[in-house]
Amino acid sequence: MGDRYASFAHSGPGRALVRRFGLPEPPRLHRYTPGDPLLSGPALISTATGGRVTSMISQVLSAAGVERVAPAAPVPAQANGGRPDRPRLHAALIFDATGVTDVESLRGLHDFFRTHLSSLYPNGRVLVLGLPPAAADGIGAAAAQEALTGFTRSLAKELGRGSTAHLVQVTPGAEENLAGTLRFLLSSRSAYLSGQVLHLQPAQVTTPADWHRPLAGKVALVTGAAGGIGAATAEVLARDGAELVCADQPGHGDSLAAVANRVGGTALQLDLADPAAAQRINEHLAGQYGQVDIVVHNAGITRDRQLATLSGTDWQAVLELDLAAVVRITEGLLDDGLVPEQGRIVMVSSLAGLAGKAGQTHYAAAKAGLIGLARAWAPALQPREVTANAVVPGFIDTPLTAQLPKVPREFGRRMNSLSQAGRPGDVAEAIAWLASPGSAGVTGQVVRVCGQSIIGA
Ligand code: NAD
Repeated sequence: MGDRYASFAHSGPGRALVRRFGLPEPPRLHRYTPGDPLLSGPALISTATGGRVTSMISQVLSAAGVERVAPAAPVPAQANGGRPDRPRLHAALIFDATGVTDVESLRGLHDFFRTHLSSLYPNGRVLVLGLPPAAADGIGAAAAQEALTGFTRSLAKELGRGSTAHLVQVTPGAEENLAGTLRFLLSSRSAYLSGQVLHLQPAQVTTPADWHRPLAGKVALVTGAAGGIGAATAEVLARDGAELVCADQPGHGDSLAAVANRVGGTALQLDLADPAAAQRINEHLAGQYGQVDIVVHNAGITRDRQLATLSGTDWQAVLELDLAAVVRITEGLLDDGLVPEQGRIVMVSSLAGLAGKAGQTHYAAAKAGLIGLARAWAPALQPREVTANAVVPGFIDTPLTAQLPKVPREFGRRMNSLSQAGRPGDVAEAIAWLASPGSAGVTGQVVRVCGQSIIGA
């Protein structure tokens, strides 16, 4: 079931009513369609604090055909025939804060954004580039770099009109890896992400030959692909060029086959919680493809009940599928050498795993466990250049959330900076970015696709 309130609020009479009663006004998000330009207007780049990545940002934007502008000196009134200068609008505001070393130099953020925020298009993008505080030179610099997190997350909450803001912490030596992440965060592929703090590490990056099909030649396994987020992920990965293996449980054969046919992939019907599933997956992949470059662990179940009345059977069912199966299947693939160098492992976690939720002790334990896996596998798999990350969906309209009672469902949809539910495709876009060759420097991360939900922030 879609977000009917958002559709209503976007309609003529709906908009009037929503304004009259001061109800939430979910902005209309511009989402990606193939062929979209990276940005629909110029990007304004601050040069105030002498950062290290400004020239790299310029290169990325120039390669993507984006016009770059620097902040202009104010035009004296008499130079314009006495008329005030017409403000120029921007699709993105980018601040290179890698040169911020103390509280004093943080002032540059205030001055730049205070002056230029009103020039941002609806659905605009704000990016702040900083350093991981641990890589900053001295205590004061570390504090100033950490300050950027609070600044960016707060600004993301103030933007409105579908605009988003993120901080990318670039480890020294990772500057060359910026392209994939900048392209994702600036583009409409990241429409439902905001307020994220991402960390970029040095890594061997392969630049895709075609940024519109970065996954060409890759094989991807998506679990739980018969519907919801899994089906959308299969579609987006296929759109980006990957060959798909779609797995789901027996009993969902028809919808699974429909998805596999749509994406030109193969279908694998099996109960992933069955310990024998790992072996069957390996046989299918080894027999038909020889390897798997991208593994998306998306299948998951909930069995909501407070711990006082939660049966051992429900506890076991959730922990088995949502966590134990992920460990078993991934280890099976790695042990059999089916994940090549530059492989990608993405796990679909949940806000419950970050914040906890009454009635979900088992589900939240499993989903937090997935975050633990991403953080543990990232360094362990780095020598093989394999990345491991967790994606955390917020409230996404799928068959899973359609089961919720009406009132919590409506709250779930509105409790974020964009005042609306996400779509399965929003999560899929984040997974496709993590899966792409340009994301070699993104590993061990927790990426929230939640419109900057107030839960677990
Ligand atoms: P969904 O119920 O629509 O999809 C889950 C898929 O997993 C289904 O196709 C189901 O058949 C499959 N599956 C379940 N048990 C299986 C088994 N034993 N073997 C094989 N396949 C099995 O749910 P969704 O909303 O698309 O969720 C996808 C993932 O995202 C889940 O892990 C879920 O926990 C997570 N998530 C969803 C939301 C949301 O708002 N929808 C929020 C946070 C996290």
